[in-house]
Amino acid sequence: MSDLVVVGGGGGFIGGHLVRDLIGKGLRVRAVDMKPLDAWYQVAPEAESLVLDLSERAACEQAVAGASRVFNLAADMGGMGFIENNKALCMLSVLINTHMLMAAREAGVDRFFFSSSACVYAAEHQTSPDVTALAEADAYPAMPEDGYGWEKLFSERMCRHFLEDFGFQTRVARYHNVYGPYGTYDGGREKAPAAICRKVVAAKLSGSNEIEIWGDGEQTRSFMYVDDCVYGTQRLMDSDVVEPINIGSSELVTINQLVSIVEEIAGVELKRNYKLDAPQGVRGRNSDNTLILERLDWEPSISLRDGMERTYRWIHDQMVAGGPTATLSAAR
Ligand code: NAD
Repeated sequence: MSDLVVVGGGGGFIGGHLVRDLIGKGLRVRAVDMKPLDAWYQVAPEAESLVLDLSERAACEQAVAGASRVFNLAADMGGMGFIENNKALCMLSVLINTHMLMAAREAGVDRFFFSSSACVYAAEHQTSPDVTALAEADAYPAMPEDGYGWEKLFSERMCRHFLEDFGFQTRVARYHNVYGPYGTYDGGREKAPAAICRKVVAAKLSGSNEIEIWGDGEQTRSFMYVDDCVYGTQRLMDSDVVEPINIGSSELVTINQLVSIVEEIAGVELKRNYKLDAPQGVRGRNSDNTLILERLDWEPSISLRDGMERTYRWIHDQMVAGGPTATLSAAR
């Protein structure tokens, strides 16, 4: 049996961390992404790195050839500012997962992982900051986030039917907000934790002492540090859990509290300007971890304070060095 593991979206944020972790375990890894190599967040010299557009069927065949396991994290995505304004682009990611599934099944791949999202849950469950955590069953009756969420839910079902009809082993995680170093922090696709770090660093470096916050800052979220995400992804892949499962932190905070954490790390206190017409997504969202605890006997545990400290330091260093992104060796 082949020991080759393929990571689709390996030049991206979570994919880059996953590649590094798999290599650390001594596995043979092929990372695949459509971005030019110098735009990958991490390039592991020990991995085979391929630049391919995985929305194309032939590229998927090339990507998965000889693999025993495939983690598909490739998607056209970003934070709320991106997904609210690019619904068609988000939905086109359906080509990636569909062609990856078809190619992987044909190539005799043993197991296939798909990264879904908490955006599959209906907004009607997320109207209050004092939110009831989202359990897996809440995805139906379906009314996901328009665009991005519909694509994720459709692709989840594609995985399910490949399993039911063809016996093809699929695993599906519904990630809740993931953050950490070696990810997007500017350019419009960044998510709240990275955006807030960037704004605090900018306020500090420029001496402006002000920060713009999207919405009134009272919307709530939970945020999972990327190391927890990478660990949970592999734990799920190794398991017999075939239904979609939440992988997310259950440590709920308001955006204002998140800003306070970053201010404390940075040693500043900023004047907050609230931009009430900015995209802000649902009012409150948290991960119900009952199922993951029951089935995987584990849940994300890295505290927001610790994870944000590592994230802030990395973004700070990138900004001081003057680059929006850095292509780095996996050794760090
Ligand atoms: P990311 O944007 O950093 O990584 C995705 C990668 O996919 C990018 O490097 C991009 O270039 C690549 N890609 C896009 N289209 C492609 C194509 N046609 N062919 C090949 N590569 C292509 O995002 P991420 O945060 O690392 O997210 C990884 C996965 O996890 C995505 O599927 C995303 O939807 C899902 N997810 C992420 C979060 C989060 O908070 N980051 C939350 C829920 C779900």
